[in-house]
Amino acid sequence: MHRTKLLIKKSWFNSTGKVINSDCDNNFRLTLINYEIDAFYGIVILYSKIKMNAFKKYYYCLLNIIYPAFCSVCKIKLDAFSNTNICRKCLSNIIINEPPFCLKCGLKLDLSYGASGNCSFCSKENFYFDKVLNVSQYSGITKTCLHLLKYRQKKELGIKLSGFMIDFIKKYLNINTIDLISSVPLHKSKIRERGFNQAEILAEHIAIGLKKKYDRGLLIRNKKTITHFLLDQNARFKNLAAAFKCRDTACIKGKSVLLVDDIFTSGATANECAKAIKQAGALKVNVITMAR
Ligand SMILES: [Zn+2]
Ligand SMILES: [Zn+2]
Repeated sequence: MHRTKLLIKKSWFNSTGKVINSDCDNNFRLTLINYEIDAFYGIVILYSKIKMNAFKKYYYCLLNIIYPAFCSVCKIKLDAFSNTNICRKCLSNIIINEPPFCLKCGLKLDLSYGASGNCSFCSKENFYFDKVLNVSQYSGITKTCLHLLKYRQKKELGIKLSGFMIDFIKKYLNINTIDLISSVPLHKSKIRERGFNQAEILAEHIAIGLKKKYDRGLLIRNKKTITHFLLDQNARFKNLAAAFKCRDTACIKGKSVLLVDDIFTSGATANECAKAIKQAGALKVNVITMAR
């Protein structure tokens, strides 16, 4: 052991902690040293992650005491530990959609449709997805929350919004039929720009809440597309054609997938994702979005 310590001192390391040069000619001892170093680095990384989360919590608390944060909707002062920019009362005022909905795209229909029906768009179009659930309208507090999550990196709001989505799924979908949960992916350039995918945050917490398997990388976005804001309905569908690819075909053969996204607009994204998943062998693709 004494000689081992000496050998470490004589060695120099690359950034991953591996010994890349040593006086030691005993390969077995060198392997042991590598294992010791890997274990040490592993413990250090785990410890620093736990410490970092605790540190972040107290950092925000201190920041909120020095520079108090206010609710983005009602402007009341938020409590010191809040990292969401929205108060509990405003969050509880999110308006949840009530039926009747279009049986296909989930559009909120007026009461003349009775208990069920297809909207005029779905009567003409042949979508790949089976059913879409939209929790709320993309306006008011819901819109503010999604903006805070997406552009102000308020990831804790994602956990709260996923709570609304879980309740909605339990109410309008048979959860026993869900085999797998996945999310609409962003192109890697968007991930670099934003740092995270808001749909992944929602999907991950929905999967935890429903005790289902979550496959983050089921879909790959292999095409960088133009922002839909600038396009009309037809151009949106063309823009997304073949933009997604299913990574693993073996694991989804005959399965029912629940796809998660933050917003449903024209249905082009959900449709292209569902197409890729079904072409890979899935039996059903249902979609849930926080807003429409
Ligand atoms: Zn408020
Ligand atoms: Zn419809």
